[in-house]
Amino acid sequence: MISVFGEYPFVLPPLPYDYDALEPYIDAETMHYHHDKHFAAYVSKLNDALAPYPYLQKMPLEQILCSVGDLPPESRTPILNNGGGVYNHTLFFNGLAPASEEVHTPEGELLEAIEGFFGTFDNFREQFSEEAAAVFGSGWTGLFSDSEGNLFIRNIANQDVLLCEGLEVVMLFDVWEHAYYLKYKNDRAEYIKNLWNVIRLR
Ligand code: MN
Repeated sequence: MISVFGEYPFVLPPLPYDYDALEPYIDAETMHYHHDKHFAAYVSKLNDALAPYPYLQKMPLEQILCSVGDLPPESRTPILNNGGGVYNHTLFFNGLAPASEEVHTPEGELLEAIEGFFGTFDNFREQFSEEAAAVFGSGWTGLFSDSEGNLFIRNIANQDVLLCEGLEVVMLFDVWEHAYYLKYKNDRAEYIKNLWNVIRLR
């Protein structure tokens, strides 16, 4: 199984664009802290948590995250928290692109599916933004698809993942305060509004 998330020892994937590429919507300082400090910490803590367990080191990240019953009880929490952090941040940073690229509105099959489930792209955006504003504490809002192509907007707490329920990420909004606080302070709604300018939907 080839995994985009890699295997132990996990390495911090570089951003697929420059730190200032998402300006003015996400500032370079936030990107440095978010990627180089927060994301990096999930990677190194995941490696630390897996260090004593050779049988887990052979597994791709997806398998580790979905093997809850096989994880050592004393290390289950750090493995799931930090593994989820690596999973979610990999998808989040790869799911953004500079505002100038024409990738921020869906087309083709995804557009049809969004219109089928939410009426219009504008309706979807409004509903998704409301859900993201309503996340209590730290978490994420995502658009997910199941194996039959059904779409769902779901909020997830902390660094949980829905992978093991068979849901694949279409797009993810990080609504942890560390994702926006330097620029937006407490104004999560403004951050969410601006994130639509840089979210990748193609
Ligand atoms: Mn984050």
